[in-house]
Amino acid sequence: MTCDFLTLANAGVQKLQPYQPGKPVSELARELGLEEASIVKLASNENPLGPSPVVLDAIRAEFNDLTRYPDGSGYQLKQTLARKLGVEPETITLGNGSNDVLDLLVRAWVAPGDEVIFSEHAFAVYPISTLAASGVPVQVPAVDYGHDLDAMATAVTDKTRIIFIANPNNPTGTWLLHSAIDAFLAKIPEHVLVVLDEAYCEYIEEPEYPNGLQWLNQYPNLVVTRTFSKIYGLAGLRIGFSVSSQEIAGVLNRVRQPFNVNSLALAAAEKALDDDEYVKRSRDLNRKGLADLEQGLKALGLDFIPSLGNFITFDTGSSGDKVFQELLKLGVIVRPITGYGLPRHLRVSVGTESENRRFLEALPAALKSAAGGSVVK
Ligand SMILES: *Cc1c(COP(=O)(O)O)cnc(C)c1O
Repeated sequence: MTCDFLTLANAGVQKLQPYQPGKPVSELARELGLEEASIVKLASNENPLGPSPVVLDAIRAEFNDLTRYPDGSGYQLKQTLARKLGVEPETITLGNGSNDVLDLLVRAWVAPGDEVIFSEHAFAVYPISTLAASGVPVQVPAVDYGHDLDAMATAVTDKTRIIFIANPNNPTGTWLLHSAIDAFLAKIPEHVLVVLDEAYCEYIEEPEYPNGLQWLNQYPNLVVTRTFSKIYGLAGLRIGFSVSSQEIAGVLNRVRQPFNVNSLALAAAEKALDDDEYVKRSRDLNRKGLADLEQGLKALGLDFIPSLGNFITFDTGSSGDKVFQELLKLGVIVRPITGYGLPRHLRVSVGTESENRRFLEALPAALKSAAGGSVVK
């Protein structure tokens, strides 16, 4: 008789299910016997432009030093980031993706039984990290798919350690205005960390969308997280960061792995911060793509949730999982979000103009097949 290792795992871990990532192109190509090039992947909010050429050059230049450990302090990148963001380098914590920083926050502050607050339909990493630390996830019901900040503030108890706020949220694309966050921060006791996850902020041009960094001096319990995975197009390298009080950064520096960010990622991120043209091109492409997707969904009579991210979530009117499966057969990968409490919805990332078109052209047939109708090819 062998051990049941799951029941030996800590209590929170037993409640977890493995994260379901977007389906890789290579896997679908294999399953369907399709050319990889014929498949459109709009499932993981990746930058459809591919990495910036100058960033690729910076990565290649690092190849000769791969035998060395990376700079564990990330000195150069922190200097560049600090200059760019107008903050002190000591307030920056680098991570192996911003998910690493989110997880470090939980590991540093959440002991078994401590509470972590986040919204219904919010980013999957918040409950994963919380449960892995045997913390207690406190999921506050959403209003119109978005965060209910009043209810989240009311949910604070003396066991609350962290509140996660995704602005905008993934997978719903919903966002919070300056005034709402300002009022919220004023209500939260100082012993509770407020983490503003701004993974998509560089895409946003809406004037009332706030830059979370502005509150850092006023609120020592505030942590703002950002990433190179989205507009900077470096999801595969895994690099993100937080900006916080020096005190919080100092605690995170105790728990992080000594070399948590690899040397290619450090070099790439520094160069990426210089390439304003790439960022602008990405933002412009996204603005136009989002408008095209909205228009296409509207034309099909489908409801969608207005989004400030590089993705849009829409109501299939039936089973999101079924429509997802039908789209796969047509070589289009989007993201089912049943696991986020949205079984009728699908999330589609903004691609290139032709990728968006492929998706919109495949969608009517997929909806029809999912509803049981026959498809005329
Ligand atoms: C994509 C995303 C991130 C980024 O995660 P990385 O680990 O930096 O790739 C963080 N938060 C949200 C809400 C996201 O959607």
